[in-house]
Amino acid sequence: MKVVCIGAGYVGSVTGAAFAALGHHTTVIDIDTNKVNAINEGTSPIFEPGLEALIRKFSGRTLAATNQYEVVTDADVVFIGVGTPSKEDGSADLKYIELAARNIAEHLDRNRYTVIVNKSTVPVGTAEHVTALISQYSNLTNNEHFSVISNPEFLREGYAVEDVFLPDRIVIGTMDNQARSVMKELYSQLMDLQKPIEVLQEIGLAVQPKDELPVYFETDTRSAEMIKYASNAFLAVKISYINEVARLCEALQSNALDVAKGMGLDSRIGNKFLQVSSGWSGSCFPKDTAEFLAASRKHGRELNVVKAAVESNLEMHAYIVEKTKRKLGTLFGKRIGFLGLTFKPNTDDTRNTQASIIIQMMLGQGANIQVHDPQGMEMFRHINPNLPIAYCDQAEQVALNADAVILLTHWEEYVHLDWNEMGNMMNFKYVLDTRNFLSSHFIRDKGFHYEGLGVGIEY
Ligand code: NAD
Repeated sequence: MKVVCIGAGYVGSVTGAAFAALGHHTTVIDIDTNKVNAINEGTSPIFEPGLEALIRKFSGRTLAATNQYEVVTDADVVFIGVGTPSKEDGSADLKYIELAARNIAEHLDRNRYTVIVNKSTVPVGTAEHVTALISQYSNLTNNEHFSVISNPEFLREGYAVEDVFLPDRIVIGTMDNQARSVMKELYSQLMDLQKPIEVLQEIGLAVQPKDELPVYFETDTRSAEMIKYASNAFLAVKISYINEVARLCEALQSNALDVAKGMGLDSRIGNKFLQVSSGWSGSCFPKDTAEFLAASRKHGRELNVVKAAVESNLEMHAYIVEKTKRKLGTLFGKRIGFLGLTFKPNTDDTRNTQASIIIQMMLGQGANIQVHDPQGMEMFRHINPNLPIAYCDQAEQVALNADAVILLTHWEEYVHLDWNEMGNMMNFKYVLDTRNFLSSHFIRDKGFHYEGLGVGIEY
């Protein structure tokens, strides 16, 4: 098939490279020529494990990139994977989607049938909105030449390549049978584990073995759009809940790690998304919960549970500040080193991360801040150009004259730091491990005051 992916970001570039690897002639369109050039030169426009190897292998063969929309004319399927950031009121800003829709409309061919797929996370009703825009801006005399459907993306940054090849589920939202059969054919190779595993092995990406096939789930367009928001909000609720339990565990001398483990043994609950942390953040959960809440208010059905999860999450960020202050007496004039700026390891994405919120709160209380992240410093600096903080090329440098080192992101390399050297460099040897990631015994043996989160009793 001829596939077009609009947007060469975390979703579009991985989706494009994956369909190219499955043998479809795929073109990625982006307005950012740096990203276009990167793909055409066989390199990755973003940091994502396995993506560069995938692009290198297929660029110039079945994969190409451009900033022009002409390729839409020949396409069987056009994925829209552009950003949907929040507006001031929390609702999703569809300006990039609308511009993409207009550009698609101007290039649709009346002699062929094209499926236009919203892969971006978009509010319920957006497929209808995009249909109306395409009808308005195209030369087509009727809507039989195209269909706009929903196919939400569930990939996780850091595991995006693995998730696109080995998804748990593929959700297709349309009642149009022709569009359903095009999408079924396009995804057919993912419904057999052999080809995806072959590709992943070829690019040398180690993945969790999986023996279950994805569930291919067809529904109507609006329900598919809703599934994405309802899923992300549910995960956010789950994290907020375990983080509240963790705070209570500290007060009641119990251990949130064991509590989460004990809870997760119940198959109705499951052990995923029960890891204690400084709160959820990143480029999806904050904006998706905001849009979901805005939509619920607009329609008079406020999602109180989601609202509470958002508030609780902000309290969790603030709790990190309080906990550090409790240990140091004051933050005024203290020097705090941060390990990790991204919302999770193995990504360079620092959009809306808790690091920026926690750091700003501490700066507001007069602390001096120095930070390190293996991949995220460039984007963090770009997003927060006026933050008066020091960026350290070496992770150990965050300890220099520091009164506390706070681990926010559990990058594997932080376990292997020279903690002896860091201890020697610190003014006061306090480590706050917000991911309960380091070995408490190992760190304490080096003379540190070590605290995790939710650990009111230790063994
Ligand atoms: P991104 O910001 O990384 O990428 C979007 C890309 O679209 C950018 O490169 C931008 O230059 C390009 N773009 C914007 N307008 C364009 C236009 N008119 N024509 C061509 N290109 C255009 O965003 P992302 O993280 O890939 O997210 C995209 C969508 O997918 C969002 O709705 C997001 O919520 C959703 N999503 C993201 C993830 C994730 O983990 N990042 C997971 C699932 C769903």
